[in-house]
Amino acid sequence: MSQFRLETRPDGLQRVITDGLASINGRECALELVGGVTPDQAERVLRYIGDYIASSRQKIKPGETMRYGWSTLRFVQDEGDAALSIEELEDPYSTTSDTFARGAAKAIQILRSQDEAVKRNGLSSPAHHPHRSERAVICRRLSPNAPWRVLVFDRIKARQADQSGWFVGCGSSTHDHNDVNELASLHLVYLSERDPRIVEYLAMPEDSRVVFDQRRVIVFNPGAQEGHVDSTAVLS
Ligand SMILES: [Zn+2]
Repeated sequence: MSQFRLETRPDGLQRVITDGLASINGRECALELVGGVTPDQAERVLRYIGDYIASSRQKIKPGETMRYGWSTLRFVQDEGDAALSIEELEDPYSTTSDTFARGAAKAIQILRSQDEAVKRNGLSSPAHHPHRSERAVICRRLSPNAPWRVLVFDRIKARQADQSGWFVGCGSSTHDHNDVNELASLHLVYLSERDPRIVEYLAMPEDSRVVFDQRRVIVFNPGAQEGHVDSTAVLS
């Protein structure tokens, strides 16, 4: 399945629709080009969905959802339309809102920003792009309610599917992070709700370290003793 068509509705709205997915899924899938999404980007999303259906042999039905990178997509069927249309989380950084909106512009943009952060910091290639519901292990001194001065993100190999592989420490060399009583587990979205700018760094490969201090982001490439300031990052 790798055929796509570009359709233009009478009102001018364009969408990319699969051509042939119905033979295995029962329905084609369509992504509207809203929020600046290009036909190429839409095809990538639809190809991902087609590959998922082909490999899992699960048909996608109206109302069902699918993880796409950080965010979640939902499939809906409009009256009089044989195809499934794609929606995305309207606020992918919120822990409380589960409203969906047409298209996939935000989900696509997050994936792009993560790949760009890897590239501009000279890292080899992105690792797993975690979903917002995946967990990080976090130092208990980083209270969800108190202000954070320094956050130190270290990526290790994730041992379980719901683990992102990220450990978030307080940056204190005297705090024992090997003591499990000093650690907690947290869904990544709780971190992004506090500071959405963290999300673009979360696809960095294993053994990367990212330090967020008051004003800067410092990236340590795997194996590097010294980090470098990510000059593109602007923290308030
Ligand atoms: Zn700590």
